[in-house]
Amino acid sequence: MEGIVRELAREIRENQVRDKYRPIAFSEYLEMVFADPRLVRNAYQRLYDMILSHGTHIAKVQEKEVIRYNFFDDPFTGGEDAVFGIDEALKNLVDTFHAAAKGLGPDRRVILLHGPVATSKSTIGRLLRKGLDEYSKIEDGRLYTFEWDVSDLEDEPNDTVPCPIFEEPLRLISPEGRQKLLAELNRVFREKYHGEYTLRVEGDLCPKCRFYFNRFMRLYEDDLEKVLKHITVRRLLLSEKDRKGIATFEPKDKKNQDEEELTGGMNWRLVQVYGSDSDPRAFNYDGELCVANRGLFDGEELLKLQEEFLYDFLHATQEHVIKPKKNPRIDIDTVILGRTNNPEYRRVKANERMEAFNDRTRKIDIPYVLRESDEEKIYRKFFGKTTRVAGKHIAPHTLHMAALWAILTRLDEPTGDITMVQKAKLYNGEAIPNRNIDLKKLRDEAKDEGFFGISPRYVIDMISKALVNDTEGCINPYRVLAMLEDNLTHHSAIDENRLDEYKEYIELAKEELSAICQEEVRRVISHNPDELREVGQKYLDHVMAYLNDEKVEDRYTGEEIEPDEEFMRSIEKQIGVTEAQKDDFRQEISNWISERARKGEPFNPEQNDRLRKALEKKLWEDKKHNINFTAMVSDKTTDPEHKRRKAEWIERLKQEFAYCDVCAENVIVHAGAEVAREELEERERA
Ligand SMILES: [Zn+2]
Ligand SMILES: [Zn+2]
Repeated sequence: MEGIVRELAREIRENQVRDKYRPIAFSEYLEMVFADPRLVRNAYQRLYDMILSHGTHIAKVQEKEVIRYNFFDDPFTGGEDAVFGIDEALKNLVDTFHAAAKGLGPDRRVILLHGPVATSKSTIGRLLRKGLDEYSKIEDGRLYTFEWDVSDLEDEPNDTVPCPIFEEPLRLISPEGRQKLLAELNRVFREKYHGEYTLRVEGDLCPKCRFYFNRFMRLYEDDLEKVLKHITVRRLLLSEKDRKGIATFEPKDKKNQDEEELTGGMNWRLVQVYGSDSDPRAFNYDGELCVANRGLFDGEELLKLQEEFLYDFLHATQEHVIKPKKNPRIDIDTVILGRTNNPEYRRVKANERMEAFNDRTRKIDIPYVLRESDEEKIYRKFFGKTTRVAGKHIAPHTLHMAALWAILTRLDEPTGDITMVQKAKLYNGEAIPNRNIDLKKLRDEAKDEGFFGISPRYVIDMISKALVNDTEGCINPYRVLAMLEDNLTHHSAIDENRLDEYKEYIELAKEELSAICQEEVRRVISHNPDELREVGQKYLDHVMAYLNDEKVEDRYTGEEIEPDEEFMRSIEKQIGVTEAQKDDFRQEISNWISERARKGEPFNPEQNDRLRKALEKKLWEDKKHNINFTAMVSDKTTDPEHKRRKAEWIERLKQEFAYCDVCAENVIVHAGAEVAREELEERERA
């Protein structure tokens, strides 16, 4: 046991921050600052550098290059809080921090994350808080504060008094002295660290520190050197838990709001001790704006705050100052971040008395994601990457279809000849075959997209509900879509006026799902690489002859024959290539073949997605009539040959598409029913 304790102790010691406990003399601190002027960065500068310290990369989204900050992938917990699919909004946010770091204006604004419910607004706040906490522990993100040695003073109960708001030690130097110092520091900062903004240490000492400063100045007859001997500089570790430099805030209901929560207030016990209610030592510096000094103030639902308290924010942002009742002002240095939902924002925006406040906010829109694959990632983050959750299997396409539906509710109806599902696919970076669509135009005509529709939270809740209610050990997309539809009416967050649309989108998702399932079943039943290659080669021979105006040599008879138009069309129409489009398609295949030949790669139709699909469908068409589906899928089938083949399909569905026994059986029955229905329709038509 002792060994374990020793090992633990060693690990803890090694993981400790280097100078966490070390007392540092003020003169030594000055040396440290000249060696690394980044120590005196203000809150905006440190936050901005923190984000950049994790690096960036360029991501390509729909042919457009966007910068992606690795920080938003959540480097702390391996992606638990990663933010997906809103790279442009995140860039806007970081650009705002950048401008604030340079002192260009946003540093005098409440930075307000605005968007519908359950976007990543809270996640972004949480990441920034975590990021600052971690950054303050490493060498690049260090910062310091100080405490007073008051052991010589008679009426002080303690030997040391730390600055209650963790001030930067350089605030102990007069504004004029500081200017000279900062000029020199900025020179070093530019040369050594390529600093692109100006270091500034603004504001006066807090009232408590000013009290001791004046007292020691009086004692030493204005000898600053002697006064500073009473200063011990200390490493400051920003921590939400320890209430140092990181504060969160959520307004209580209207009746119970108390401005002291933000600014701090008198400590009546200490008023008794010091005998005056204006003694700065008798003030509690525990308002959230004080706690946030040097770091980040992160306010939830900020606009729900009573109007009079919003003025505290005005002072804090515009002037970087807190003005408690009956007490001197406190200069602060903190990033003020707020979050708000659509309705609150509109209410405050419409209130004329709030004009001053509205003027001093910088709104950053945080929309819902509009790419289905990003939406699916949000669910995966919640349910995990495996296909089993809580001992249950999640059938293929379950999250995919839920995501498709959620995206559909967030889109405007497109103009022109394109469907909602096609629009969703285009947004997702998928091409619509045989079509050339101006994506930018589509986006431009739908500026509000991302600010209405269903929240990912509703979808996650419904998937969870389906998991809990399940009895078969596997939840499938049909079940989840039904769950999403059935609960729409008794969900408070859902817009009643859009219920019909939402239900319509459920049908669209089901159609899409049916097509995908059929294709998978088709593939496991009819896919045979040899056959595919054979038909593919034949198609290719005829296409080349057609394009070059030549004849084809018949493989068996050696006879020269005309390209077989009927045969080529029977394949092309499988994937919707029309008579008018056939020449383009044939040319496309021919180009693809030449390209491969140039690289010395042999013909393999499986490597061209559209050709493969067309050939598979063709083979399926030729075969399906020979399969007695009704008998095959029937539970009562006794034919050993049928049983053997069905078992084979189930095995392939499991191997190739990650189905389990339950959902594989379901999907075969489903696809079988579709084929039976089609055949019936064909017979009726004939
Ligand atoms: Zn202080
Ligand atoms: Zn399953």
